[in-house]
Amino acid sequence: MRNANCPLCGDAFREGPGYLVEGARKFPKQRRWWPGRFLICSGCYGFGYDAETGTLNADHMREMDGARWYRVVGRGEQMPPVPCAACGRPFIRNADPLLKRPTCSPTCSTDLTRSRNGNQGSGQPCETCGEQITTGRADSRYCGSACRQKAYRQRVSNA
Ligand SMILES: [Zn+2]
Ligand SMILES: [Zn+2]
Ligand SMILES: [Zn+2]
Repeated sequence: MRNANCPLCGDAFREGPGYLVEGARKFPKQRRWWPGRFLICSGCYGFGYDAETGTLNADHMREMDGARWYRVVGRGEQMPPVPCAACGRPFIRNADPLLKRPTCSPTCSTDLTRSRNGNQGSGQPCETCGEQITTGRADSRYCGSACRQKAYRQRVSNA
């Protein structure tokens, strides 16, 4: 599984959800920090954020060799853990009225767009010929354009 470890402490996400944060990563042998979003573990979040006062702790609590973070992604209230729409891992972020299908990482949102727009199909049998659908959108009902047209013609002639 990708992003298997927290970039701050290097631990796997064993207990509880991750926190999606805005931050920056620094990769070995590179000098610059690359801004981005990533998941951190609840332990690292706890070190960097004081839940009692609602304030962020000192910078050094939010920075390690290869990663630093500034804030939880989103604008509104903190949401309860939701599963990533692509990989299913539960994570926490702040509410965002514009966001319908939250994903835990940029990679997962790319995956989600790709699977919505094509390639894998739905895995369900085609409603016209019964073959398993292995291409096209994740919600496709037909194995291809031939079957989709056939179904359409049938609907039209039955109407
Ligand atoms: Zn951590
Ligand atoms: Zn994900
Ligand atoms: Zn078909």
